[in-house]
Amino acid sequence: MKVETIEVGELSTNCYLLDINNKVVIVDPGDDFFKIKKAVGSRKVVGLLLTHFHFDHIGALEEVISYYNVSINKVNDENFKYEILETPGHTMESKSFYFAKEKVLFAGDFIFYHSIGRTDLGGSDKLMQESLDTISKYPDDIVVYPGHGPKTILGEEKKYFKYYY
Ligand SMILES: [Zn+2]
Repeated sequence: MKVETIEVGELSTNCYLLDINNKVVIVDPGDDFFKIKKAVGSRKVVGLLLTHFHFDHIGALEEVISYYNVSINKVNDENFKYEILETPGHTMESKSFYFAKEKVLFAGDFIFYHSIGRTDLGGSDKLMQESLDTISKYPDDIVVYPGHGPKTILGEEKKYFKYYY
């Protein structure tokens, strides 16, 4: 699976395109449908994954749904194998998508490079703590693709978890 990053919108939100055999899954269409559409090109979009509903992650959501005829958190191609992890804290509905074979995690605003998401925009400190405990049980060598900024390695981020609360 190839992972492409498209930076969209005023808050430089990461929209990701996941490609297997020229089939594409869009993660967090934050803004700029034109930019996303251009990056997708002639490839077939087979799914849409959304980590949470903050405005900077959903700007192009409706256009993606109607143009590509996809629904939220559905992927119509069995080559994409992933687990939906409930990782609330940044928001109550925050989810992460874990691709075990590829060892990659799309974390939205749950985990960033050397940081975590804020909880004062409709989230919960307690749930964030629980989500950090949950993700701590996952392998260290997972590559984490966050909602903003550069990717990171889960094992590296785990070292910081104890300092957050
Ligand atoms: Zn957010």
